[in-house]
Amino acid sequence: MIRMTSVTKVYRRGLFETHALAGFTLHVARGEFLAVMGPSGSGKTTFLNVAGLLDPFDGGEYLLDGEPMQGLSDARASAIRNGKIGFVFQSFQLIADLDVLDNVDVPLRVRGLAARVRRERALRALEGVGLSARLHHRPSELSGGQQQRVAIARALVGEPSLLLADEPTGNLDSRAARQILDLLERIHAGGTTIVMTTHDPELAARARRRVHVLDGKLIDPWAPAPPAPPS
Ligand code: ADP
Ligand code: ADP
Repeated sequence: MIRMTSVTKVYRRGLFETHALAGFTLHVARGEFLAVMGPSGSGKTTFLNVAGLLDPFDGGEYLLDGEPMQGLSDARASAIRNGKIGFVFQSFQLIADLDVLDNVDVPLRVRGLAARVRRERALRALEGVGLSARLHHRPSELSGGQQQRVAIARALVGEPSLLLADEPTGNLDSRAARQILDLLERIHAGGTTIVMTTHDPELAARARRRVHVLDGKLIDPWAPAPPAPPS
């Protein structure tokens, strides 16, 4: 599904350059549940944003379902995003002025579906995350775990084949985090490919595969260990 080969991404600020992705190679098959781990600043979020077509990249090759993602028009990128990708963020990113139902409706409005169809699908998505009783609450009236479940319903309401989650439990206490884990496992069992970044070992342990990022590239699991520092 995702085939990134030697992808590079440089952030430039005045004279400073950050090579956020520096020869990033990762292939993700359809149906995987993958955890991308690594220290803060190693490039995990950049990878996810490039994979989800939220950010352009500078070099290398990225094929999504066989289609080259380099040099896409904005219109094509947003059509692909709307068609097959759902996002979940550490900070939930719900719209504060909209209630739960209207937040989940946002991606359906973008698709121009009829109001009745949208409502049915939004209700079904919220039922799937156990929030049918909170339809008319604002995000600020919900716990963090509930807000993340709304965000997951919003990510899934368009029935994406790929769910990208950036530290989905990063702002949650351990009980709420565990509920999110259970939910992600169910979503994966339903056939959705999941790629998530995480620092959380418990979350990573539930994924079916783990990769480690350092300095903008994957650590090769087969590489010989570096020599120990002199003691
Ligand atoms: P992680 O998600 O692993 O914490 P990021 O992908 O957020 O890492 O960041 C990788 C590197 O790119 C870091 O050095 C970070 O400071 C830098 N970076 C990320 N986003 C930007 C940006 N918008 N502008 C400049 N530098 C950025
Ligand atoms: P994460 O660890 O999840 O990447 P951060 O706090 O590092 O979270 O980054 C939050 C946001 O700030 C991201 O959208 C990232 O692209 C941006 N960002 C990160 N580092 C920099 C930077 N050095 N300059 C500008 N923006 C940055």
